[in-house]
Amino acid sequence: MNVYDSNRIFDIVKEIGYKKTDDQKNVDCYVINTCHIRDKAKEKVFHEIGRIKELYLNKKKPIMVVAGCVAQAENQEMLKREPFIDVVIGPQSYHKINQILKNFQKNKKEDETEFDTIAKFDLLKKIKNSDSNISSFLTIQEGCDKFCHFCVVPYTRGPECSRPFDTIIKEAEELIKNGAREITLLGQNVNAYSYYLNNKELRISNLINQLEKYSELKRIRYTTSHPIDMTADLIDCYSTSKKLMPFIHLPIQSGSNRILKLMNRKHQVEDYLDIHSKLIKINPSIKLSSDFIIGYPGEEKSDFDQTLKLIKEIKFINSFSFIYSSRPGTKASRFKALNSTVSKDRLIELQSQLFQNQIDHNKSLVNKSIEVLVENKIPKQNKYFGRNVFFNSVIFNGNESDIGKVVSVNVENSNQNSLFGRAKNKMKAA
Ligand code: SAH
Ligand code: SF4
Repeated sequence: MNVYDSNRIFDIVKEIGYKKTDDQKNVDCYVINTCHIRDKAKEKVFHEIGRIKELYLNKKKPIMVVAGCVAQAENQEMLKREPFIDVVIGPQSYHKINQILKNFQKNKKEDETEFDTIAKFDLLKKIKNSDSNISSFLTIQEGCDKFCHFCVVPYTRGPECSRPFDTIIKEAEELIKNGAREITLLGQNVNAYSYYLNNKELRISNLINQLEKYSELKRIRYTTSHPIDMTADLIDCYSTSKKLMPFIHLPIQSGSNRILKLMNRKHQVEDYLDIHSKLIKINPSIKLSSDFIIGYPGEEKSDFDQTLKLIKEIKFINSFSFIYSSRPGTKASRFKALNSTVSKDRLIELQSQLFQNQIDHNKSLVNKSIEVLVENKIPKQNKYFGRNVFFNSVIFNGNESDIGKVVSVNVENSNQNSLFGRAKNKMKAA
């Protein structure tokens, strides 16, 4: 979502004459968009600002803006800790950035961290989305009401708020016109999307069905979804939609019901298994990926073993795993995290299982023909980059004219993260 937000911040400041540059040493305004999900992210921000400060030791400093969730959570603290920062602006207030930049006065610090999501959605509606990637992001929902005990999102992004249906479709049309052939619908809880039009609730399934109608659009994805919002209408889309990809990032966090309860996840392992079995009944090739938190306060070896068991059972591909990071203000921060050596050892064990699943899955595609949406030519190489239906990177010998198209690629090799091969039409030409 930060990629999407950064693009939109740029679309907004463009209106008052700003342009993007790679020349970091000579800018009028520097915006860092930040994430606060784990502790390291905040330290990275201060580290990055330290680096920028060095570039401006002997010259006029740019207006330094810190946007995003670190700005939201730390606001005044950031301004105090780092005087080089001029403006902090939260993720639900960035639509006010032009006003702030226009009124900017040296030595006056600005702090804008209201939860103004509706006003933000309103402004975004009026500003064209200039993203011209083959695979584009589109925010449909922001915020979260679920309050998992480890998570800062409800505090930094605010309550769940869904964008109006027609605004999303209009923005999708813009993206398609700009060349998008794949759209990933975004939200902190994307499948909690809920918008009422004429007393009728519209859900993410309605958005998927509507997007399905655009012939230029080849693929639809969504992320990140929560197991309790995997409702029957959405699961149904996997049988009705031809464009919805058979790969879902559906975080479970832990394979132990005891830990899920301590986390306030509101779902059990059995609910997750039930969703999985319904999905593979519709399409046996559907794959899931997940997020896992290791070393949550109270996690015992038996809980961890249940997580490993689940990984073996579901055979997740492309998952993310993190050591629990205590976040200020969250319920779990009142409890002691697990000993860090134990957590690290468990993470290594868990990741080796996840990576093995990934390697095995990629290997299973070698010598097969797969469908790849071609995104770009790899700079300085005579190769092309695209993704298969499971969102794996595919690097292959292809043709310039394939960019933006779905082509068949014969997979010749694989590693943990990527597949390598040759476009079928390239083989004929050779
Ligand atoms: N809404 C999504 C997740 C959004 S946060 C869901 O409910 O599944 C993205 C991921 O960051 C989470 O899935 C979780 O695995 C990780 N995460 C969030 N807070 C964390 C914390 N305090 N420590 C470690 N990982 C965390
Ligand atoms: Fe955070 Fe996701 Fe839980 Fe919301 S549902 S609190 S975003 S982990």
